[in-house]
Amino acid sequence: MKGPSAYIEPLTVRQRIQRAQPHGLPLINMGYNELPYPPSPHVSTAIKEAMGRINSYGDPTCRKLRQALSDIHDLPADSIICGNGSEELLDVIGRCFARPGDGILIPEFGYIQFPIVANRVGATLVKAAETDFCTNVDAILAAVTDRTRIVFLANPNNPTGTMCSVAELDRLARELPENIVLTLDLAYGEFVDPNYCPAVHRLALRHDNVIVTRTFSKAFGLAGLRAGWCVAPAALVPVLYAGRGMGTVNAVAQAAALAALEQPQTVAEQVASIVGERERVAKACAAMGLQVVQSHTNFLMVGEPGDDGTRADALAEHVFDTAGIIVNRTREAGLERFIRFSLSFPEHNDLLLKSMESFPAAGA
Ligand SMILES: *Cc1c(COP(=O)(O)O)cnc(C)c1O
Repeated sequence: MKGPSAYIEPLTVRQRIQRAQPHGLPLINMGYNELPYPPSPHVSTAIKEAMGRINSYGDPTCRKLRQALSDIHDLPADSIICGNGSEELLDVIGRCFARPGDGILIPEFGYIQFPIVANRVGATLVKAAETDFCTNVDAILAAVTDRTRIVFLANPNNPTGTMCSVAELDRLARELPENIVLTLDLAYGEFVDPNYCPAVHRLALRHDNVIVTRTFSKAFGLAGLRAGWCVAPAALVPVLYAGRGMGTVNAVAQAAALAALEQPQTVAEQVASIVGERERVAKACAAMGLQVVQSHTNFLMVGEPGDDGTRADALAEHVFDTAGIIVNRTREAGLERFIRFSLSFPEHNDLLLKSMESFPAAGA
């Protein structure tokens, strides 16, 4: 018997994965913003080949991978550093540029890793108010103090899915004091449009204090292998290498990332399919009376207007119980009424929509 008290301590994605699905349904995890597609045969082959040589260290400098990224993005190979996921690079940036008591500045609903990084280095986290769940560049600039060392900004952002235009990021880069490291996290950049990432990369080439991070975890579907990279100004590159572990990007991850880069058509098709599903599912959610925050990523954040979080908790339980689907509950103050889920195959998305449609109305 599950009474209302079951909803007082809402479950995290991981707790839901570990819990038995009440009706024995297969679990579909839409809570981690992952791509639903398994690796292509080309990527699988590269992984198997690399595994046959796993007695040898991977290349600590990721030379081949950096060269491929350099060719594709028209960036100097020496301005690129790879990491064990972009998470490692965010951590390295935190450790290299902030000390206990320094300020790390992020937007109000900034990516969860940013407070974690601030906490690890003992820095003081400062949050700048957002406008309509989107970073407000003026609020960021107004929150700068002489203690501020790092600004972390994800565009588009997780969990909100919103983004700043290139013009706004350009203005931020120009107006931010040069002794502050501006970190622009483009984990979902591929889901915006093909011109967005190259324009943001140019900010890192133009400013001595701007770092842009990228990942193979989202659009490239390699989350489990841990491969990320960043573009950094020349003077910061040796600093970042000094802060990064020697062999953190393992040989299999390097081989898989390289193979994935050789199939831009596959990535583009999968991204296009996810973006198409995003628009379709967003419309369907809006038709159910839900507030849908406009997303530029592979996920959506939706919720009932005016809910204090009780309904969102119950909705997350409902889709787990009736469809075996795991969604994320956003718990940041101000986001209590939302759930967040990644777009999957059309049949998974349809299953989710059907389950959401069967969610009893408030008071019913
Ligand atoms: C998922 C995500 C990342 C990627 O992390 P990896 O360590 O590269 O897997 C980075 N930033 C944001 C905002 C994300 O949502």
